[in-house]
Amino acid sequence: MPEWLEKWLRPDLLHLQPYSSARSEYKGSAHIFLDANENPFEHHGLNRYPDPLQWALKQRIAAWRRVAPEQIFLGNGSDEAIDLLIRLCCRPGTDHIVVLPPTYGMYEVCAHISGVAVVHVPLQADFQINVEAVLATVIPQSKLLFVCSPNNPSGNAFSLAEVEALVQGFPGLVVVDEAYVDFSAQPSALSLLLRYNNLAVLQTFSKAWGLAGIRLGMAFAQPELITWLNKIKPPYNISQLTQEAALKALQRLVQYQDEVRLILQEREQLANALAQLPVVERVFPSDANFLLVRVTDPYSLYNWLVSQGIIVRNRTNVLLCEGCLRITVGTPAENRQLLQALANYR
Ligand code: PMP
Repeated sequence: MPEWLEKWLRPDLLHLQPYSSARSEYKGSAHIFLDANENPFEHHGLNRYPDPLQWALKQRIAAWRRVAPEQIFLGNGSDEAIDLLIRLCCRPGTDHIVVLPPTYGMYEVCAHISGVAVVHVPLQADFQINVEAVLATVIPQSKLLFVCSPNNPSGNAFSLAEVEALVQGFPGLVVVDEAYVDFSAQPSALSLLLRYNNLAVLQTFSKAWGLAGIRLGMAFAQPELITWLNKIKPPYNISQLTQEAALKALQRLVQYQDEVRLILQEREQLANALAQLPVVERVFPSDANFLLVRVTDPYSLYNWLVSQGIIVRNRTNVLLCEGCLRITVGTPAENRQLLQALANYR
C-alpha cells in the first residue's frame, strides 16, 4: 500500500481479510454456476447475484466523466460512500471529521453512528468558507474534511481555487460532495484528482439524473483508495436492477442535459418571481436545483404551504438560515402553483 494512503486509513483495518464473494474466486469463463446457492431457474434475469464491482457500469461512467474505471466506487446512494469513508478513515473515540455548517446533515449523522467526533467550522454569513479557520483547526486526528459544493442548504458552490487551497492545506482526506454539480456554473473538483491523492469527489444519480429511486452514488478517488472502499463495502451493494437502470440512463445523455437546462431556466424564473413577493425578504443565489429563501414568517408560511398540499423544507432552525425555507425547483406547473399559493398567503 502507498505510504500516503496508509496514514489516512484506520490502522486496525490494515489487516482486514475482506469477504470474498463466490464469483470473484475463479478466472476464465464458465457456464454452470453452482457456487453461490442461487435458485437456478430464471426470474426476469434476476436469479443471479449482480457483479459486486459493477464493471460494465463503471466503464460507462468512466467514459462520461473522463476518469479510469478503477477510480470509481459505486454506493447505495452517495450516502453509503459518506458512511464508508468515515468508517475507513476514522478511529471511533479518537479521530474526528471536520464539517462546514450549515451543510448536509448526513456527514455528522454517519460520524455519530460510528462513534466519531465532529468539529464544526461555520461558513461565513455570506456562506463562504473561512479557509484559514478550517486549516487552523487541524490536528493529527482530523481525518476527513467534508466540503459540500454546491452546498446544501445554502445553494452556493465554492470556487475551485478555494477547494484546491483546502486540499493543499488539509493533512487528511478532503471529501468534496458534488451531489448538485450538474446544476452549477463552477467546474467540478474531479480535475484535481490529477494532482492530489487526498481527495474524494462524490456525485449521485439522485438529482440531475432523476433517479433518486434507484439509489446510486459515485465516489471518485485514486484507485488505491477505491480498492479500500471496495474491501469494506457490503459485497453486493448495488442491485442488478440499479445497475441496469443506470446503464440505460447513460444512453440518454441528451434527455439528461435537456432536463438540467429546463431546471436551470425554471430556477431563474422562480428566483425572480419569488423576489417580487411581499413575504420574501431574500432569495439567495443558487448553483443547485433548489433555492434558499428568507421569508417574513417561516413557520406560518410553511404551514400555509402544507395546507395547500405543497411541501418545502423549513430550515429556519439551521445555523445562518434563520427565517429560511429551502425550495426545490419543480416542474413549470408546480412552480406556478407554488407562486400562486405564496401570493394567496395572508
Ligand atoms: N449529498 C448531498 C449534498 C445531498 O443533498 C444528498 C441528498 N439530499 C446526498 C448527498 C445524498 O444523495 P444520495 O441520494 O446519492 O444518497
